[in-house]
Amino acid sequence: MCHYCTSALRHLGYHVTATTSSLAALDYLRQQPFDLVLTDIKMPQLSGLDLTRHAREIDPILAIVIMSGQTSLEMLREAVSNGITSYLSKPFEVEELRLTVTQVLHQRTMMRDKLRLETVVHQLRLSSAFNYTLSLPEMCAEILRVVQEEISGRWAYFLLNVDDAAPRLLFGHPDQPPLDTAGWQLLQQTALKQLPSRTRIQLGAELCDGVCLPLSVGGQNIGSVLFNHTQPLTPARAESLTLLMKHAAAALNNARLFTQVQEANSRLQELDRLKSEFIAITSHELRTPLAIVLGYAMLLHDQADPPAREYLRRMLESGHRLNAIIDDMTNLRQVELRQTHLTIEEVDLADLMQECVTNVQSLADGKRQTLNLKYDASALCRVHLDRDKIALVLTSLLSNAIKFTPIGGDVTLQAWCEHVETVPYAHGDQAIALNPGAWAFISVQDTGIGIPPGQQRRIFERFYQVADSLTRENGGTGLGLALVQGLVTVHNGHVWVTSQEGMGSTFTVALPQNVPQSLMS
Ligand code: ADP
Repeated sequence: MCHYCTSALRHLGYHVTATTSSLAALDYLRQQPFDLVLTDIKMPQLSGLDLTRHAREIDPILAIVIMSGQTSLEMLREAVSNGITSYLSKPFEVEELRLTVTQVLHQRTMMRDKLRLETVVHQLRLSSAFNYTLSLPEMCAEILRVVQEEISGRWAYFLLNVDDAAPRLLFGHPDQPPLDTAGWQLLQQTALKQLPSRTRIQLGAELCDGVCLPLSVGGQNIGSVLFNHTQPLTPARAESLTLLMKHAAAALNNARLFTQVQEANSRLQELDRLKSEFIAITSHELRTPLAIVLGYAMLLHDQADPPAREYLRRMLESGHRLNAIIDDMTNLRQVELRQTHLTIEEVDLADLMQECVTNVQSLADGKRQTLNLKYDASALCRVHLDRDKIALVLTSLLSNAIKFTPIGGDVTLQAWCEHVETVPYAHGDQAIALNPGAWAFISVQDTGIGIPPGQQRRIFERFYQVADSLTRENGGTGLGLALVQGLVTVHNGHVWVTSQEGMGSTFTVALPQNVPQSLMS
């Protein structure tokens, strides 16, 4: 029978491993995967029915076909209860064998697909639990809880690359024993080589079975995890665990990124708090002593004869510069505390621009720069705004333009009014979120050094300067644009910059023509 079936099946194109020992057959099954077992019922050592039972334990969806000459109903019932897939009554023709084999293998394929689908659904159900939190410790505990159901592991150790610092070790359970050197090295090697491994491992007082798996997302290595387990890790369980860890790695990666963002954010918040505190203390504590110094310096200046008079003039000049910085700080602090008081009035834009140009004319003359004022008087609108505050904004933008433009360059102040119809408002290569309605635009354009693209948003941050503070030539505090943005924002306006390095910059301020009543306190 063995020779007959082997040669018939090989002839049909199947790979066949034949043996007349049912114990040897069991060994084969343990060593490598098979699709089908074809066995006689009556066999020496182990009967075909016993072989069926054992084979089922090894592979629950293995196709098993029993061959027998005399089949009682009783025997058939036992065969079915032992888990046979089909039955061949001896003697049989090759065609009968072919039909039965084809049919049971087809059944097996279908069962395997069904099983895969069930596994995927099971995995999804399990891994959906990973998504309920973004906290790394909570997620590690959740992963351990899910894995406990699968392999009865009590403890889990996660080695995760959370940031650029050394990898972090996280526990699945707060009370689990610490990891010894061997366990730590295993985690590190698994994370490094990205290969799973099984081991016996000392955890506290117990020597446990352990499995260590790599954690990676889209080819990016994010660490490794070590579980202990008391259930044997069958190939099916190992496969399920590997799959589960793929979902776990994706969830951990999200939590890891979230943690990184949170940590970076709290560092930034702390930095921001320190800046605010610095501004508050400096503006408050310097104002009074400086006022006293300036007061006496003025008194002495008026009474002094040369050359002391000249020294005192320079002292006063520096004192006024210092005062201007303190003013910027105080204004900025008020904007941040939303305590800026606006005195809204109807303003003639042409008038306002002329005033600002006059304010900075001497600066431009000092650098032999041309200051241009451009507007179409007939198309210019009247705007409701706080004249002093917007004058401060434009003067600050003009001073910057002059400061960052080489000798002989051009600075142009331009204004126009426009009814914005579509959102966002397209200006050059920028898309600005202006509400539809009537807006006044004022731009300050220069032919200066320009601003690198990556820094064009950052220059509006407090204290931010493009050049390294130690090497920069132009001085300044880095507060001007933060104040400009703050003052424009309290008018419900927007300010933005377009710039090309080496070619120049254009700062544009958009102000609603009618500031809402709420601001007219
Ligand atoms: P400050 O001028 O006191 O340094 P600002 O807040 O006014 O502070 O400006 C911040 C930075 O933005 C400046 O240090 C400079 O690097 C850059 N910047 C501002 N205006 C211009 C400009 N017109 N051209 C080139 N760079 C500019």
